[in-house]
Amino acid sequence: MYLSTRGGQAGLSAAEAIKTGLADDGGLFVPSRIPQVSQETLAQFGTMSYWERAAVILAPYLPDYSDGEIRAALTAAYNTEKFDDPEVAPLRSITADTAVLELWHGPTSAFKDMALQLMPRLLSQALRKTGEKAEIVILVATSGDTGKAALEGFKDVPQTRIIVFFPHGGVSEMQRLQMVTQEGGNVAVVAVKGNFDDAQNGVKEIFNDRAFNTALAERGFRLSSANSINWGRLAPQIVYYFSAYADMVRLGNVAPGHAVNFVVPTGNFGNILAAYYAKRMGLPINRLLCASNSNNVLTHFLRYGVYDRNRPFHTTLSPSMDILISSNLERLLYHITGGDCAQVKQWMEQLRSNGRYRVRDEDLDRIQEIFWADWADDAVTLTTIKEVYEEHCYLLDPHTAVAWHVLRQYREKTNDATPTVVVSTASPFKFNASVLSALTDGKQADGDEFAMLRQLSENTGWPIPPALATLAQKPVRHHRLCARDDMKAIVQDILS
Ligand SMILES: *Cc1c(COP(=O)(O)O)cnc(C)c1O
Repeated sequence: MYLSTRGGQAGLSAAEAIKTGLADDGGLFVPSRIPQVSQETLAQFGTMSYWERAAVILAPYLPDYSDGEIRAALTAAYNTEKFDDPEVAPLRSITADTAVLELWHGPTSAFKDMALQLMPRLLSQALRKTGEKAEIVILVATSGDTGKAALEGFKDVPQTRIIVFFPHGGVSEMQRLQMVTQEGGNVAVVAVKGNFDDAQNGVKEIFNDRAFNTALAERGFRLSSANSINWGRLAPQIVYYFSAYADMVRLGNVAPGHAVNFVVPTGNFGNILAAYYAKRMGLPINRLLCASNSNNVLTHFLRYGVYDRNRPFHTTLSPSMDILISSNLERLLYHITGGDCAQVKQWMEQLRSNGRYRVRDEDLDRIQEIFWADWADDAVTLTTIKEVYEEHCYLLDPHTAVAWHVLRQYREKTNDATPTVVVSTASPFKFNASVLSALTDGKQADGDEFAMLRQLSENTGWPIPPALATLAQKPVRHHRLCARDDMKAIVQDILS
């Protein structure tokens, strides 16, 4: 059963929590009990495929889904048509005590695919289970990565449509091409004349427009979002921590039952929170290292217990971590306080009104037993990419490079020798300009996106991910461009 972190709703089934997304008191849905995975079960993971591992981890979180439904969703999400590596989330051993978990073998070359390949299928099943008659229309405003991953995830999923808005001129050329060439019978992509905030505000206005929503309901449509606070996006991420551990054991990097650390490039706190659930479920995890870029609001919080969003926003080379409000932290606060909804609600109200809150010393102690935090700026990010490539012939994207740097800092400051998994969230090819610039000290040849992909591949011998390599040949299927004030009309037009 699921309940709201702020106490206003309880007793929801998994299907209801996934369909609803956000609780009506503004809180996030959390499971009322955290299932346990035994060492015996874990020992069997070594010979299982990714989807079989996922079935074991997810079934207790989805008690209202049948085994057949779970299997159907998992095998449709995690297969070699969707992922360019048969292991789905392969672990690469770099040194005796450091491995990399590659979460970017999905259709959009970034880790959002791990959740967004599965969540739409769980949602579609949830609609059936709850007797929902309306067709769900997913609205997304994107600064790049999430939009494409959501399009790929919702493409041709029954009883759903998806409309993605991106800022015209405000995403990289690669990201734009990924979106405007999107295939699928239920997808639409619209460029908005404005920046990301304009697109996001436009979407929010559409959600909040009662009359518009009523009119849509009469035509059999119901609006929803696919953002990362939905439990259906969080749960799939727990799986790969178990999977990585099983592979650490299989490769001999850790003895069965012994602990590992994970270092996670963090933005909205969803990925690292999934690791926290894995630990609470019994996975032998020693520390979780939270890696941030110059938007280091989480570093400060995890060190001092003060969350303060009143700080300048930095645009960095790791854009998916450019975030000042890490929504999923609310779930951690709920669990750390032993489910004190009133306290969580008070902090969230302080965050909304003053932009800051401070947790109590005992809360901070509990958090610091598990979490450690540091950050890297852009200059350090680039030198880390170069150093790691020269030392290990391993290519990091800028987000993962931030994590690598934080791991080095951690080892220097703590002398902890626990084997550690670096969670890699994007293919280096997705951020080809930054990675090339790092390798060549800023002297890379000028050229278009595809020339850069080829140059990076030629310089390193690494293959270009198939979905990026074939993008140049794909026809543009989406041509819509609209003014900021016309977004509602465009939605109406698309749905008619
Ligand atoms: C979304 C994203 C992140 C941040 O993950 P959170 O779950 O928001 O903390 C990190 N790296 C990449 C490449 C991402 O796309």
